[in-house]
Amino acid sequence: MAHDALWRAQNYKCCYCESREQSKRNDVEHFRPKARADRRPGSNETHGYWWLTWTWENLLFACRNCNQAPAKLDKFPLAEGSEALREGDVPPGAERPLLIDPATQSGIEHIQFVQTSLGTVSKTGRWYPRPRHGSRWGAMTIKACMLDRPDLLDLYGQRVEQYVRPMVEDIRVAMRTGTGADVQRLWSRTLIRLLNPAQEYIGLSYDALDQLIPATLRRKHQLDLRLP
Ligand SMILES: [Zn+2]
Repeated sequence: MAHDALWRAQNYKCCYCESREQSKRNDVEHFRPKARADRRPGSNETHGYWWLTWTWENLLFACRNCNQAPAKLDKFPLAEGSEALREGDVPPGAERPLLIDPATQSGIEHIQFVQTSLGTVSKTGRWYPRPRHGSRWGAMTIKACMLDRPDLLDLYGQRVEQYVRPMVEDIRVAMRTGTGADVQRLWSRTLIRLLNPAQEYIGLSYDALDQLIPATLRRKHQLDLRLP
């Protein structure tokens, strides 16, 4: 039951990669692993958080590719010097995890998608997740959940080319030929379409908009980039 409830509450998306997934084939993810935990670099202790197995705050819906080996599995990196919780302790206590908790933290604050050209073969380049402003949570989450794995990079590229770029083109046409009100209307509609919570890859769309319609251009047309 928890499985379907989590899946629905998360708009049918994996909590880590934001891919829309079928409920049945995928997992209830324990943010703090239940049987065994790899807490490096902060701690070499390996006991699992078995007493949190049925704690709602510790449960998330995640896709298999993010949640199973070689991705997250039992990884739960802590900051150096952080103490591991003990049996019965209520999170977070003194524990300082280095993974983004999708239930309470915004991925957008810690992960930035950057377009990287692959040279002359690709006109458009690819979109890679990177830690935003050097965020350690971003770096650790990308690494642990393998958010830069090849199948996801393909999906990110498709998302930008098929959804984001056509909307950007429409906005740019309106900037050249339409009124200020036309541009504002189109921009608002684009934000709602790409960044509402039911959409896949909101973090990617946010950064693609930020880079394809740069801040100088947004200022000129008085456009705010923010979540609807
Ligand atoms: Zn996933």
